[in-house]
Amino acid sequence: MHRTVICPGSFDPVTLGHIDIITRASQLFDRVIVGVFVNRDKTVSFSVEERIDFLNRTIGHLPNVEIVGFEGLLAEYARECGATAVCKGLRAVSDFEYEFQMALANRKLNPDLDTVFLTADAQYTYLSSSIVKNIASFGGDISGFVPACIHDEIKNRFSSQ
Ligand code: ADP
Repeated sequence: MHRTVICPGSFDPVTLGHIDIITRASQLFDRVIVGVFVNRDKTVSFSVEERIDFLNRTIGHLPNVEIVGFEGLLAEYARECGATAVCKGLRAVSDFEYEFQMALANRKLNPDLDTVFLTADAQYTYLSSSIVKNIASFGGDISGFVPACIHDEIKNRFSSQ
């Protein structure tokens, strides 16, 4: 049986924590769709094209991973692309309540869709895109948090603000 999973998120920008979850999902499933939310509310720091480009440059080499932008309901999008699971990373208990609610809502909307949680790698449990942006905006060192190939672009975006 061919199993497709979606790893959804803003990835604004992608961090080493995201890369860890996507890489592990690619070892568990036949096909991984990394769904990048297209945020119309302009609260993001990087455009959807930039976020997709960053992901392509860091995990584009994984043979069973596709990176796409998507809008609207995840439950509907999963149906359209034949995904039977959503894969999310759980960092702390604080992630749990929201993720539990989302998983149940998605399953109600699409009974064929299950949510699989992977525990964050111990070294990335504190890591989020917002923390990276916060540190970068104060000129701090983000080299341990984001892939090396996109480090300068992220740093420069914040140093010019
Ligand atoms: P964030 O802004 O919190 O980094 P995203 O919406 O881009 O979040 O997250 C997409 C997915 O990646 C979510 O399932 C989230 O739980 C997971 N994730 C984010 N950061 C990490 C991390 N450091 N370790 C494991 N999973 C993570």
